Amino acid sequence: MVAEALHRREHQAVTSARVPEHSVTGRLLRPGAREAPVTTLRFSASGGTVESAVPSQEGTAEVIIPGLVNAHAHSGMAVLRGLGDGLALEDWLKVVMAAEDTLTEDDMRWSLSLAVCEMIRAGTTAFADMFHWTEPLIDTVIQAGLRVAAAPVVFGEGITPYLAAGTLGFPAQLDHIERLAARYASEPLVRIAYGPHAVYTCGADVFREVAERTAAGGLGVHVHLSGDLARGRHRPGRTGPDAHRDRRAYRAARPLDDHRARDQGHRR
Ligand SMILES: [Zn+2]
Repeated sequence: MVAEALHRREHQAVTSARVPEHSVTGRLLRPGAREAPVTTLRFSASGGTVESAVPSQEGTAEVIIPGLVNAHAHSGMAVLRGLGDGLALEDWLKVVMAAEDTLTEDDMRWSLSLAVCEMIRAGTTAFADMFHWTEPLIDTVIQAGLRVAAAPVVFGEGITPYLAAGTLGFPAQLDHIERLAARYASEPLVRIAYGPHAVYTCGADVFREVAERTAAGGLGVHVHLSGDLARGRHRPGRTGPDAHRDRRAYRAARPLDDHRARDQGHRR
């Protein structure tokens, strides 16, 4: 298991929600506490919960913190990192989406595996991700022991990404999302959400359909609400979720609003 291997090799204070029984010793940071006593945590084999926390006399400079959460990722793109750097968003999208069209599902599985290794190494144990999500890819995350809020991306009519991997277009992709949600309903490491890409790539029809479905079924929404292109050309209130007559549906779904603030080195 990836998490276990990294943990043992580097003795990092990294764990996941589902690792074989093991323990870790370090300075335990607690919210509001002024001291960080050296403590040995022992985790259960099933579920990864802390079974015991015992003071230790071991001298160590390591710290134990909660797992970090990556609130927005496109992990299947890890192998494309750096492609189109420096281009304007419109040009960058053309270059990257053309490259994505050549990726098979197996390519994406390796790319996702790379991203998962990097996240574990950095202490990330949960991530929200918008991409081409299918069962084999989700199972890769489960096998690694991370938590994922997976949002299969949805584009508007006329945009059919990931040609080699066989993504469904709108509205069939929404049915695929709901099938995945049913498939993983009892899997504690997985949450499925709708992934309408952005206001400038979806149009009103997609957002209206997603709003109606999330109101009816309760799945969440992961969306680029205000990307660079949106800031420059999209007039808020015209075609995006802000325009939809049933805003309550989005509020009820607690949409994961990415890129609302100025990006920190990430675009999409
Ligand atoms: Zn993004």
